Amino acid sequence: MADLELSADAPACAADGVWLACIECGEQFAPFDDVRYTCDDCDGLLEVRYADPPTWDDFEGRGVWRYAAALPFDAGVSLPEGATPLHDVPRLEADLGVERLRVKHEGMNPTGSFKDRGMTVGVRVAQAVGVDRLACASTGNTSAALAAYGARGGMETLVLLPAGKVAAGKVAQASLHGARILEVDGNFDTCLDIVQDLAGRGEVYLLNSLNPFRLEGQKTIGLEILEQFRDEEGSYPDRIVLPVGNAGNTAALYKCLRELEASGALAAEEVPKLTGVQAAGAAPMVEAIDHGARPAAPPSPSPTRGSRRPSRTSPARASASNPPPPPRSRASGSSARRASSTPTSRSSVSRPATC
Ligand SMILES: [Zn+2]
Repeated sequence: MADLELSADAPACAADGVWLACIECGEQFAPFDDVRYTCDDCDGLLEVRYADPPTWDDFEGRGVWRYAAALPFDAGVSLPEGATPLHDVPRLEADLGVERLRVKHEGMNPTGSFKDRGMTVGVRVAQAVGVDRLACASTGNTSAALAAYGARGGMETLVLLPAGKVAAGKVAQASLHGARILEVDGNFDTCLDIVQDLAGRGEVYLLNSLNPFRLEGQKTIGLEILEQFRDEEGSYPDRIVLPVGNAGNTAALYKCLRELEASGALAAEEVPKLTGVQAAGAAPMVEAIDHGARPAAPPSPSPTRGSRRPSRTSPARASASNPPPPPRSRASGSSARRASSTPTSRSSVSRPATC
């Protein structure tokens, strides 16, 4: 069963109140000492954890980095992104027979998709861990976002696309931003296998959804929806409905809601329900549940986590390179619990990689 409890106690390996936790076995890791995408012990997915989850008063500014108190850094490699509109849709509202319906227009992000929210954080993490070559497998939007943010960060970008299966406009976006584009004979999974192999050999920093930091940026979709809806309608929405591919956004919004409830920013009865929708022609999760797959249960309210498996230190997997640019310092009072304004270089770290 996935371990999704949010512990309030920062482990020894945390960097200013930020660490990584395996959602399968609970092992904890330093966030920026090594390049790490999955758990060293069980290969489970990792999740970014915070000692001090955010409240509404912590947020200031506009766009994704308005929510820096909910992110690992004060600022990212930004174009900028976020602050997308929450449109009124009166005809659709009437057609569906619901009282108040809004539509979040994520196409207003710089490269035209929500992927920009994850990349502004992910590319910033690449700087923190000392990697300057980025890569992803993609069928479109991810490659455009990675290429744009890699270019803004002054980093080399490699994009692997399935040959003949990507919209020309998306290939053009990646190309215009200077990405190296490799067309692969095969499907998306073939591309992902290759790019994961490159990442495992330390050749590139992987920025597909496996990277836990991308979901941190995508959490801000939920934060914006809640603030915009509350400010305009006087209450939080009852339900957020979102399309599901690999459920990265669903996981991101669920994490957003868990953190807001953990901080007391949302009361339990204010937490919106999440509804995922898959197209009939590509619905593996719906079909899995139809065939008996067991949905994950929500975490218990207790913040106490059980005993941990023995930890070990992960070998470094990426080469150090250019030092990152100096980010601005946080103005709000919650800055002390986030990653240092001077990002950690692996060569100067004395903190243990695991807890
Ligand atoms: Zn694990």
